[in-house]
Amino acid sequence: MKIPSYKVARLRAMLDENIKKNILIVSHYNPDGDALGSSIAWARMLEDMGHRTVCVVPNKFPYFLNWMPGIERIKVYSEHADEVKGAALSADIVCCLDFNTIGRLEGLTEAIEANTHAKKLLIDHHLAPPEGYFDLSFSHPEASSTSYLVYRLIVRLEGTAAVDRDMGTVLYVGMMTDTGNFSFSNLTPDLYRAVAVLVEKGIDIPYINQMVYNSYSEGRVRLLGYALGPKMEIIEKGRAAVISLKESELRRFRFRQGDSEGFVNYPLSIKSVKMSAMLLENHKFIRVSLRSRGDVDVNAFARKYFEGGGHRNAAGGKSMDTMEETIERYKKAVAEFFRDGGIKE
Ligand code: 5GP
Ligand code: MN
Repeated sequence: MKIPSYKVARLRAMLDENIKKNILIVSHYNPDGDALGSSIAWARMLEDMGHRTVCVVPNKFPYFLNWMPGIERIKVYSEHADEVKGAALSADIVCCLDFNTIGRLEGLTEAIEANTHAKKLLIDHHLAPPEGYFDLSFSHPEASSTSYLVYRLIVRLEGTAAVDRDMGTVLYVGMMTDTGNFSFSNLTPDLYRAVAVLVEKGIDIPYINQMVYNSYSEGRVRLLGYALGPKMEIIEKGRAAVISLKESELRRFRFRQGDSEGFVNYPLSIKSVKMSAMLLENHKFIRVSLRSRGDVDVNAFARKYFEGGGHRNAAGGKSMDTMEETIERYKKAVAEFFRDGGIKE
């Protein structure tokens, strides 16, 4: 990953330490470890430079990320709407982290767009950023996480001295969760060099693993059993899978935000399965989560069939139809996608 020097110079000018600024940091709906880790670390660096920051996400984050150092900085828009609207209006700079289509902010979009004077900065690793929306953009789809990209920017601006154990911990959470514990693509030597620096700063990797991957409720583990048992369907001669969970089913397992995180990955551990979907009902619509292996491009699939997007092997979208209709629509879409060569034998 190459971050051009002229862009770093423009970022440096934007963040000129001699003029203290109000900086709003926003990340996407259903915030994950990468959204939170990159936001907290970026806020820490900006505050260490002397700026004032407010970090916002549209809705609640998973309870198993509650322990992250600095998590108290994160304001949930759905719970603090007025405070966030005020902060959005008085912001000199808005930093958009870990997403690139402004609609991924859901209700928060309006609050951001009410401020017409703020400069907009994008730091993100999703495909295809919108042209012209941002004053300065670091759009690096080759970065395995936004947290890694933020780490690289922090080091370019302030050096590794700016990174301490707490900042390292949240950056590691983002790097780890977005790469499936360092098992997906874009695992470059430089990523491991970054991790080496974080280890030098004293991060405790077994502890972080424990907190993120082994801190679930009993309901979540039982819901996983249910999702993979009665609710997983394997279709298209074993090449695709779908799991669907309705609100009434979620309630039976005392579902909390984040409990279904990662479920969509399990069907891909079946050798023949190249593409997996999880359909999760909430009161407004059905969230569609998609994962794939290799060449199978679920970003293209999500854009074409579910008003979404993401990365080649991890994407998402939504459906306003009923669960039954959405399942049927998914099955038809997969069949068509196969026929069109989206999934190779
Ligand atoms: P997840 O399944 O974990 O919610 O999302 C997987 C990936 O797809 C993430 O990188 C996320 O940013 C992206 N994604 C999920 N939902 C949407 C959506 O509705 N629109 C777009 N553009 N991307 C999405
Ligand atoms: Mn990410």
